[in-house]
Amino acid sequence: MPTETFEFQVEARQLLQLMIHSVYSNKDVFLRELVSNASDALDKLRLAALRDEAPDADVSDLHIELEIDKDARTLTVRDNGVGMSYDEVGRLIGTIANSGTAEFLRELREAQDGGGAEGLIGQFGVGFYSGFMVADEVTLLTRRAGEPKGTRWTSRGEGTYTLEAVDDAPQGTSVVLHLKPADPENQLHDYASVWTVREIVKRYSDFITWPIRLVGGSGDDGEAAEPETLNSMKALWARSREEVSEEEYHELYKHIGHDWREPLETIQLRAEGTFEYQALLFVPSHAPHDLFRRDSGHGLQLYVKRVFIMDDCEALLPPYLRFVKGVVDAQDLSLNVSREILQQDRHIRMMQRRLTKKVLSSVKDMMTDDTGRYATFWREFGAVLKEGLVTDPDNRDALLAVTSFATTHGDGGGTATLRQYVERMPEGQDAVWYITGESRESVGDSPHMEAFRERGIEVLLLTDPVDEVWVDAVSEYEGRPLRSIAKGEVDLGAREDDRGDEEREKQAEEYAGLLGWMGERLAEDVKEVRLSTRLTVSPACLVADANDLTPALESMYRAMGQ
Ligand code: ADP
Ligand code: MG
Repeated sequence: MPTETFEFQVEARQLLQLMIHSVYSNKDVFLRELVSNASDALDKLRLAALRDEAPDADVSDLHIELEIDKDARTLTVRDNGVGMSYDEVGRLIGTIANSGTAEFLRELREAQDGGGAEGLIGQFGVGFYSGFMVADEVTLLTRRAGEPKGTRWTSRGEGTYTLEAVDDAPQGTSVVLHLKPADPENQLHDYASVWTVREIVKRYSDFITWPIRLVGGSGDDGEAAEPETLNSMKALWARSREEVSEEEYHELYKHIGHDWREPLETIQLRAEGTFEYQALLFVPSHAPHDLFRRDSGHGLQLYVKRVFIMDDCEALLPPYLRFVKGVVDAQDLSLNVSREILQQDRHIRMMQRRLTKKVLSSVKDMMTDDTGRYATFWREFGAVLKEGLVTDPDNRDALLAVTSFATTHGDGGGTATLRQYVERMPEGQDAVWYITGESRESVGDSPHMEAFRERGIEVLLLTDPVDEVWVDAVSEYEGRPLRSIAKGEVDLGAREDDRGDEEREKQAEEYAGLLGWMGERLAEDVKEVRLSTRLTVSPACLVADANDLTPALESMYRAMGQ
């Protein structure tokens, strides 16, 4: 087959432009990305071998190799992992697989206009393409384990790449970076230097569980030296917290979370006894774009006795904690364990319960110790966490304790917890009042709010779609009913200018004719027309029955196709 030339997908091309003109100041991370891909490829191959799915693969010495050629100014990152087929190379390397592609494009344009592209790269992580920060040409040679032929991919990052089938490629993948000229002012970042490469690996990839060997680094006498293993390969989750630096944890997070930013929170747990396991969990600092897409992979990595078993293991945490990243390493599971088995396993369920409680208690701690961090957490993940109020009755109290709401209290711009609400409830108020709707502004202007504003009664403003659902599931907080100000009869008790029952009955008689007439005219649209004490300024408002779907909930169910 001859060499074929292809164009990069549009967004890939734009991204490459950013890389080539390297707006990202910390170029060292390109090596972390390539090593991370190599490590994933080795994990995949070992797993396939464990499951007897790769009979022709060689898994005898799985490792990563870095090779420097000073004269040619190349750095090669090589693995003997799973590799890629010809089609896979085109699909995986020529496009951006990120599910938020449309959003990515939009943000990319904005960033280019506003000069904020660096943050954007950090946000999306650009994996393989980051090689173009340091190289003006990249060649990738790969052969899928078990397949006879290999593929060579080459690009200068400028709009096109070539693909070519090759007969004699070793199993796995090697990425050759033709390095840009070194900056004589900045020897620390000369990637053809053994010293630089060694330092970068120690710093970003020490925990990688496969050996990372440096080969071809010449000895003092100019002879090729023995391969040197650069990383310690220690599993961070198996070490005590005192032994591990924050930075090491963060690098592990970036590897497994495919994120370039620091995590918001690191959570460690060790369970001893009959079913032993260790967990190292991270709460990211930003919600991913696909958090609400059912088909996208969420979940933890599962290891069994240090051997990687699977990604996106959903059985380890409930769906409402799907934003949590991390590793769980269990002692007593079979290496052959499948997703189906995991879903039913009693130990896994116990583990899920324990991990859930641990995450919730960490959020609670964050709330008490660091309100700023908690606020970030809530902004990013609050809407997901609230799903748990519906789906996880066992942890409902723990969830309510860490839930916060926009509120009319104070200047109306703040948030409140249910505890705070109840603590400042005046004598005589018996319910926790809320309103649901689409945005803080729209609910703030609602006519339902008038009587509450007038009487100075605090109202919680619930504007996430999920709010419509959980308020039905959670009917009370510490004995106080949760009630919508927009549903059913609202009796706020007497006001000073209130005219008493007699007066109200008289009014009802007086208006009976008008109400009857309006009821007839509006029969198609409303169930009933009645007099109300809930308004002070507006002449009329729409009220739902206490048991009806609210308009927002109706539209949510419609959106979900029900
Ligand atoms: P990510 O790692 O976040 O998926 P990358 O840009 O780093 O994004 O890599 C894109 C895809 O290319 C990977 O998901 C993987 O399928 C494939 N890939 C990259 N490097 C390798 C490698 N060394 N061996 C096998 N597959 C690879
Ligand atoms: Mg990657």
